[in-house]
This record gives sequence, C-alpha cells and structure tokens, in this order.
Amino acid sequence: MSNYLLTRRRILGAIGSGTGGGAVSLAGCTTNATDSTETANETPENTSSDNENKNESNDSAAEDQQPEEKEEEENLDPPENGAVVFVYDDGPIEDYTKAFPVHQEFNAPATVGIVSKFVGRSDDWMNLEHLEALTTAGWEISSHTVQHTPLAAYELIEDAKPEDTAIHAEEYRHGHQEGLTVEITDGNHSVTREVAGLGGDSDDNLSVELEHPVKHSFSAGDAVIRYPADQMHEALRESQRDLEELGFAVTTLLAPYDDFDEWSMEFVPEYYDGVANARHGSRINDSEEFNPYATQRRYFIEFTSPEYVKQDLDEIADRGALGVLGAHSAKKEVTEERIRETLQWVNDRGIEVMTLREAIERFAH
Ligand SMILES: [Zn+2]
Repeated sequence: MSNYLLTRRRILGAIGSGTGGGAVSLAGCTTNATDSTETANETPENTSSDNENKNESNDSAAEDQQPEEKEEEENLDPPENGAVVFVYDDGPIEDYTKAFPVHQEFNAPATVGIVSKFVGRSDDWMNLEHLEALTTAGWEISSHTVQHTPLAAYELIEDAKPEDTAIHAEEYRHGHQEGLTVEITDGNHSVTREVAGLGGDSDDNLSVELEHPVKHSFSAGDAVIRYPADQMHEALRESQRDLEELGFAVTTLLAPYDDFDEWSMEFVPEYYDGVANARHGSRINDSEEFNPYATQRRYFIEFTSPEYVKQDLDEIADRGALGVLGAHSAKKEVTEERIRETLQWVNDRGIEVMTLREAIERFAH
C-alpha cells in the first residue's frame, strides 16, 4: 500500500482549479439537495476517538458483510482479467428496485454513494432496510457527503466587487446549499459569507447569492469560492459517522457532482481510503499505478454508447485493469435491460465485479 499511503499525505496548494470535467459534471446529480440548513452544530468528537470508532465499526460490519463463499478468495492481487466496480449515485429507491435485482441475477455487488441526510427521507430514497438488504448481498455503502455537498473549489469567472452579493464562478453549486458558509479567497485575502441561495435569471447566468456583500475585491481567475475547512470536515466526517451509526462500514467516498480537486484532497484522506470518481473522462484504471484518490470513473449508460462500453471492457480484460462504471438508476434511460446487458458483457469477458473497497484492497499496493 505504499504509493497509496504516500498520497494520503496532505497536499498543499490551497487553490484548486477544478477537475476540468465540465461536460458530465452535472450528471443528474440531484439538485433537490437544497433542503436543510441545520448542519449539525454539535461539538465534534476528538479525532482519535473517531478513528477508534471507525476501526471498530469497520471490523464488525465487515465481518457481517462477508458472504461465506468469499473465504476461498485468498489471492489479493488484481484479477487476471481485470475487475469492474459499479458505482450508483445518490441512493434513490431505484438502486434497490431496478439495479439490485439485476445485479443479483449475476451475483454481482455494487457500490452505492449515499447522502446521509437522504436515507429514508421519502419513498423516493432508499431507507435503512433497503441499505441493509444491499450490504447483506455484499454491496458497499460509500459516502456521498451529508447533503450532497460540493467538495471542490471553483474559480471566479467574473470579478467580485466589494458591494457585490452575487459570485459568478465556473460552477454555482454552492448556491444550492442555502445557509451554509462559503469562503472566497485569492490566497492572500479571504472572506466567509453565508449563502442566501442560487442567483441569476437564466441557466447561463447563475450565481451564488450571498447574504451580505463581499466587502473586498477579488479578480476573476485569481480567486476561488469553496467551503471553508470546518465545513469540509463536517460534510465528510458526519456523513461517515451517521452511516456507520446505521451499522455500515464506510471507507470510501463518492464525490458529489463528480468534482474532486486539490482542495478536496486536503480533507478526504483523513476519513476515506479512496474516492470513486476523483477523475472522469475514462473508466479504465491501470492496475500498475492505481491510486485510489485518483480513480477514474465514467458512466456506462448515460453519456455513452454500448459500443464504447464494450470496447473499454475488452481493454479492461486484456490489460487486467480496473474499470469504474457509474450510473444514476433513477434516470429513465438507465433501464434494467441496459444494466443486465452490461453485466452480461462483463461476465462474457471473465471480468470480476467487486466493490470499490475490495478494488482498493486488490489494486492499491
Ligand atoms: Zn450525486
């Protein structure tokens, strides 16, 4: 695990420039993550006891989740014909009603990125029983933060003047989380302001509205908008804690909006062993140099074609590589048939299906 431990060192360079994944980054990730402003104000437990708890619950949950037949798997090297990890986003009920039964036909687990505040929130979302059914079948619960919290820093694309209350940045995602505090910084000067909501009157003119004026000038290109450190910790720590309190081992992260950058990387390794979607544009991860904090994921039904997916699966099998395939099961085009045919292609090529946690164990060393 040496190269992966190396990457756990904190990376300096506070100002991230985004991951450059514009086209797919909206990706249907829910925009109704705007709800709540009551982001726990409880005193955080100290880090060391958090870690102890984490290890304990990991151990016990991992035992619970190990199907007996896995005992024969002693080889921890990457499988010869490669592996794929299916990662479903957001935890909608369709993960359970649509994806799960098809995966069961192939005895193939998947990883689900769960927003801890969405669990059981309405009939549209999986509840505790659904998640338990998944983990009993060998699926992995990954954190998708507390409330679909963007973890990246976004560059300002327009200058901010002292009297401004609207911030125009390359992404306006912070505008979805009314009541949270954002930091605007150019590295020399920082201000923090409460978010009033999403501003702008058309799709190409959206902004993050602040409760109060910036009271400082920031230049486009030099400054970023991001969550300050305390909220980054909260989004990552409390999601993991809440899901672990439900009884799940949570060691990986699915970054909301597929946005993961240097700013995210300053916080994530403290809580998680890897990220499903640190990069996108490809779904193939080389087995020789797999870094779980730089995992490449790409969708397998949305934004692609069957030919392209099959071609990548050929390459994964040829190279013994790790494929990470994403989907939003609530989307209409993500049908049982499309999931089934993909699993069949995977099966036909002798590629193993595993969770992200298992993939990290097998590939990251
Ligand atoms: Zn999402």
